[in-house]
Amino acid sequence: MAAEALAAEAVASRLARQEEDIRWLWAEVHRLRDEQLNAPDRCQAEGPCLTREVAQLRAENRELRHRLYRLRLCLAEELSHQARLESAARAEAGREAAGAQASNLLPFVVIGMSCLLFPFVCQPPPSQSPEEDVKKEIDPDNEVKNPPNFMKERLKFFEILKKDHQLLLAISEKKGDTSNVITVRVADGRIVKGEAWKTTPYQVAAEISQELAETTVVAKVNGELWDLDRPLEGDATVELLTFEDEEAQAVYWHSSAHILGEALELHYGGLLCCSPPGGGGFHYNVYLEDRAVSSAELPVLQSMCQAIIKEQQPFERLEVSTEVLLDLFKYDKFKCRILKEKVATPTTTVYRCGPLVELCKGPHIRHTGNIKVIKIFKNSLAYWADNPEMEMLQRVYGVSFPDEQQMAAWEELQEEARARDHRTIGKEQHHQRNFKEVLSPNMYSCKLWEASGHWQHYSENMFTFDIDKDTFALKPMNCPGHCLMFAHRPRSWREMPIRLADFGVLHRNEPSGALSGLTCVRRFQQDDAHIFCTVGQIEEEIKGCLQFLQSVYSTFGFSFQLNLSTRPENFLGKTELWDEAEKIDVEIKDALGRYHQCATIQLDFQLPIRFNLTYVSKDGDDKKNPVIIHQAILGSVERMIAILSENYGGKWPFWLSPRQVMVIPVGPTCEKYALQISSDFFEEGFMADVDLDRGCTLNNKIRNAQLAQYNFIFVVGEKEETNNAVNVRTRDNKIHGEISVISTIDKLKNLKQSRTLNAEEEF
Ligand SMILES: [Zn+2]
Ligand SMILES: [Zn+2]
Repeated sequence: MAAEALAAEAVASRLARQEEDIRWLWAEVHRLRDEQLNAPDRCQAEGPCLTREVAQLRAENRELRHRLYRLRLCLAEELSHQARLESAARAEAGREAAGAQASNLLPFVVIGMSCLLFPFVCQPPPSQSPEEDVKKEIDPDNEVKNPPNFMKERLKFFEILKKDHQLLLAISEKKGDTSNVITVRVADGRIVKGEAWKTTPYQVAAEISQELAETTVVAKVNGELWDLDRPLEGDATVELLTFEDEEAQAVYWHSSAHILGEALELHYGGLLCCSPPGGGGFHYNVYLEDRAVSSAELPVLQSMCQAIIKEQQPFERLEVSTEVLLDLFKYDKFKCRILKEKVATPTTTVYRCGPLVELCKGPHIRHTGNIKVIKIFKNSLAYWADNPEMEMLQRVYGVSFPDEQQMAAWEELQEEARARDHRTIGKEQHHQRNFKEVLSPNMYSCKLWEASGHWQHYSENMFTFDIDKDTFALKPMNCPGHCLMFAHRPRSWREMPIRLADFGVLHRNEPSGALSGLTCVRRFQQDDAHIFCTVGQIEEEIKGCLQFLQSVYSTFGFSFQLNLSTRPENFLGKTELWDEAEKIDVEIKDALGRYHQCATIQLDFQLPIRFNLTYVSKDGDDKKNPVIIHQAILGSVERMIAILSENYGGKWPFWLSPRQVMVIPVGPTCEKYALQISSDFFEEGFMADVDLDRGCTLNNKIRNAQLAQYNFIFVVGEKEETNNAVNVRTRDNKIHGEISVISTIDKLKNLKQSRTLNAEEEF
């Protein structure tokens, strides 16, 4: 037994030396390749010679790999023989049968032959000169200094599994029968002979044409998507799908996701979480615990992906029992979660490319070199299973294509989509008074209300509830949300004043005893606006507010008075700041001489400080606080409607009226014409109705329409029909007589536009 162990040790040490050689050769190949890439001039002069050198080194490398492979098989045999003897001895000694397990693990724990074929994770050999050190730093291939430990272990494990698989295959081949010939029917009708468990779809394609073999992305075998290098298992119908095929596209992008996954693992050492397919391109989720992916890192990831593509790493498929996979992925709680919760079959597949071994159903492209152009362009947050209660993940997006033109077309489309983004277009729409209408959320976390001070002083009036682990509240006002909008990017004095207007729904928990019709409600909307300006702009902006007020209220026919308010009882902030803040409450006087408090114009120095709002001033000071002017002209829209209804006593001015026109036919023969007139006026934008009640006299109909406060009543008979006209009277029974339809529409349009309070007389 001691002799057996010695033999194994000898093989292992030979192996280690070979490994060292290969590492060195690999580094040489890289160095020469880089030299060639970095010095195109020199390359022209010495190119052919260098290329020869590289080719020769590669050939040597291949040869060494081959020898290594044979040594490895030899070693495995030695070790398993030894293990068998050991376990037999143990069994004899009457020990428990746990030894059988050890024999599975034993052989490969011993030797550090991890990553020969996968130089990406190898530590670079000791550098020869200082220049080389410098070069390494800029070489993306050497970006990764310390790949995570689990990668090495995992790769070792994978190689063991792969070898087991190969041995099994070899054994079954030896004792298998000779009738292994299968018939492969290609989609175009061609029939090819092959060998079961040997012939691959790639070989089938290559037999037809090498070009076809190279452009095929994935195969479909008996209707099932199939890796191009996965041997056929019996007679089969084979379809060869190129990138134009949607299913192939999905495989292409899915395979690109593995490349991104490999880069993410190498760069961050995080845990990869499955990447659901969807949309154009691909993305990958990665769990980084307490770190986030920054968009500044995307170019690094992209160049790592490009390096992986250059390596032409093959995708290797293995079918493994769930039990073993739990061991393979024991470092990764997410994989274990999937294996325990999602995998119902006794075995499932893993795929390897480069140092990445990923739990995946496949299929994939043949090797990473099939991806021609790749772009990593976006990152965002995600949650495990899209559930915010679960772990937060980082998501990185990419897209890839078989050629540059398709990438260029994709980029053009993205550009177009950006230009058409409604958010961009929305920003370009302006109101007459230069307010930007914005929409802000209806509820916010209490953290925001704590920052604004509402939580401390106003929370009893807010509707609150729990979401996830946070307390949220429906907004009672828009100011804090608008402060967030101001703060979302740096601001300059050049863009001031910034005027935001919001008709968002507000909720205030008023005492139930105070609720009354529309004047005091718990859910309402305001014409709420916030002007962010500099101290120097205050006067001009307040003037603008007052002019706005004047123009709206005079349109309604209100007179108003202005009151300067002192601070409220529950005031926010320091006294001295309130002394600087002025609040103008505006009271309007209605038709009965009653005063109503509606509009507010309030100067606020406090909120910008609470939210730490700043802008860069003209002289470069980037810590300047803006001033906020809170402005509501109508105040609560609901309350304003109540005030207007009472003010007009139901006699709404024509431009505001919900009942502008009533059409009345003089008899049944004119009903059709009356309907026509009503629909003509409706289409011109007026609120028009028609009275077809035959049980009512003409006079009664006119009377009813007047009581319902229709501004205008059109009576139509045969004469009006012949002349294409209407006979016009008003709700106050002023008779304007027969007027052509065209001219009536014209007059009403003008009256509506002028917002006159006296349309019935001015007609
Ligand atoms: Zn996959
Ligand atoms: Zn406000």
